[in-house]
Amino acid sequence: MDYCASDGGDGLIKADGPPYAECVLCREPTEYAEASKGLPLCPVCEWQEAQRTACSG
Ligand SMILES: [Zn+2]
Repeated sequence: MDYCASDGGDGLIKADGPPYAECVLCREPTEYAEASKGLPLCPVCEWQEAQRTACSG
């Protein structure tokens, strides 16, 4: 089991089109559907979170 690889799977739904959910951090539109559960992040914040929580070894 690799705990580092945890993207998606928290109730987030990839949107095919608007309305998009707002990023919970910067309020930018994300690529997730507004009906998504969980905490949608825009690609930028998602990347930053990935850097912060990246496993180091
Ligand atoms: Zn964001």
